[in-house]
Amino acid sequence: MHELSIAEGIIEVVERTARQNDVTHVKKVRVAIGELAGIDIPSLQFAWVSVTKSGVAEGALLEIERPAGVAWCMDCSVTVPLKNFGDPCPHCGGYHLTPTGGREMRVIDLIAD
Ligand SMILES: [Zn+2]
Repeated sequence: MHELSIAEGIIEVVERTARQNDVTHVKKVRVAIGELAGIDIPSLQFAWVSVTKSGVAEGALLEIERPAGVAWCMDCSVTVPLKNFGDPCPHCGGYHLTPTGGREMRVIDLIAD
């Protein structure tokens, strides 16, 4: 499952960061997952529960921010919102769009006890 490996990747960052900062327990992890990152949020939350059953982030909350997807329309020469890959340009209805934002996935910070 794709989302499980992502949850495990987040936990790796959390464990490393906690070690570096002498944090013994993390109660909340904030992450940014762009709308175009292709990650199913309910599946990720589900996977998160299973990777936080023990360890430094036992029982920790996963708080997810969703940076909006944006794309450059080559026909309109403007930046337009893009909720999903394959959506048309909201101005011209065309498909000459290059995604320019909303694909990121990163850990923002950890909240320790
Ligand atoms: Zn357009």
